[in-house]
Amino acid sequence: MKPTNLKTEKSTNKPFNHITCRIFGHKYRITKRYESNIKEFECAHCKKQYTLDAYGNYTPLTDKLKSINEMYENFYVKKFSHFS
Ligand SMILES: [Zn+2]
Repeated sequence: MKPTNLKTEKSTNKPFNHITCRIFGHKYRITKRYESNIKEFECAHCKKQYTLDAYGNYTPLTDKLKSINEMYENFYVKKFSHFS
């Protein structure tokens, strides 16, 4: 039996993408846009998720940050709906 080396079979986790990000930076695309103007992003290369911090810098989207975003969104929507 000779192992056939067909490219890298089905490796979905390509480490090369991370190198691309290190050299060229992440390629962000918006995955979620909140009413409160908070946005969530995903890198097209490494599939990591990001959001913007208070200073407008990209920061990795953790579960904690995600729940803060959602809490803030709920707060914002409720507050906003009082005026309409
Ligand atoms: Zn990336």
